[in-house]
Amino acid sequence: MLILIANLGSTSFKYRLYRMAAAGADETVLASGGFERVTDYAGTIDQALADLVAQGHLESIDDIDAVGFKTVLGRNLSGCVEADERVIEALEGFREVAPAHNPPYAEGIRLFGKTLPKARLVALFETAFYQWVPEAASRYAVPRAWHEAGIQRYGFHGASHKYVAERSAEMMGRDAVAEMVRGLYQNGPRPVAGEPLRVVSFHLGGSSSVTGIRNGVAIGTSMGFSPQSGLPQNNRVGDLDSGALPFAIKTLGLTLEEAEKQLTREAGLLGVSGVSNDVRDIGDAAAEGNKDAQLALEMLADSARRWASSFLFDLGGIDALVFTAGIGENRDDLRAAICRDLEGFGAELDPEKNSACRGKEAVISTDASQVKILVIPANEELVLAREVARKIS
Ligand code: AMP
Repeated sequence: MLILIANLGSTSFKYRLYRMAAAGADETVLASGGFERVTDYAGTIDQALADLVAQGHLESIDDIDAVGFKTVLGRNLSGCVEADERVIEALEGFREVAPAHNPPYAEGIRLFGKTLPKARLVALFETAFYQWVPEAASRYAVPRAWHEAGIQRYGFHGASHKYVAERSAEMMGRDAVAEMVRGLYQNGPRPVAGEPLRVVSFHLGGSSSVTGIRNGVAIGTSMGFSPQSGLPQNNRVGDLDSGALPFAIKTLGLTLEEAEKQLTREAGLLGVSGVSNDVRDIGDAAAEGNKDAQLALEMLADSARRWASSFLFDLGGIDALVFTAGIGENRDDLRAAICRDLEGFGAELDPEKNSACRGKEAVISTDASQVKILVIPANEELVLAREVARKIS
């Protein structure tokens, strides 16, 4: 079957065309492409489809069996579902929470529905991986009306952490756990024989989160109601005491909109370092002695460690620490900062393996380390293509 993965940003459209066969027998990327500075999604989608035909990847656009959308979060809806009016309504219900993502996905789903009326449209919400997080860990202690309005911890980067859950289980020789994770969205969590597999997954990139995973199922995560939470993000604040916002508005004389803009575009690693929202630039400045840049990196590692340790009691121990995404895959300095002084917990980073690992799958702990430390490159498009294939099979 041919599956098109549509990645819609606030001003971008990227796509990947997969040929998939049942049970992973074929997972071939036939083509990929993208457009920046998009103002007209309808024209851009038509252009992308025409390119796929012109390049010979499709005889006709009707060859596409399904289109997959990695939707962020929806009001009263999660999981891997048919991308119908219900999904559009759920995305629009939370447009304020994910303003850069929800409107383009709602529009994209509508446009693909018109352009490819025979194709199945499937949405995989980033929140899907957190469906089974216990309520005590997903609820905020807000007044009931706030809770009923949908204010709770949802969690993000679900496709990435799910990939880590599956792949780390394979790398640890726990095939039954990997198998359970594969069918998680279809069957729900199933008991797995043997000792539980306990993983902490670090998705560290432009946007970062840390998730605790027991036997392939998330028990909690650092991201909360919106992508403005958890670790300091590239230019977004991360966790902030709710008392700070009204105080800043009053004492700095800001409007709510100005404060929101500053917290979502001028904060995070950019705000602290004053250098850049890119860890490569911040790392260069830190190496030249820039104290603010050094502090920004220290804060990222510190926050990652705190969130990782927050899952320790519930997991009852850790079998694997896993790094993924742009920073997790490429920055040995940050991996080392996060893994420092963990020998008492049985986690020992191998400095040579760590510094040799850039952007590839590897075990970077010492042979003697009880806790495995792994690097697993993110592959969110593949997770989505697999989920779409399962959904339509
Ligand atoms: P992502 O959101 O996963 O694309 O990650 C973006 C972040 O990862 C940025 O802060 C980059 O500095 C960092 N990053 C991406 N690629 C590399 C690389 N090859 N070397 C070092 N850092 C990288």
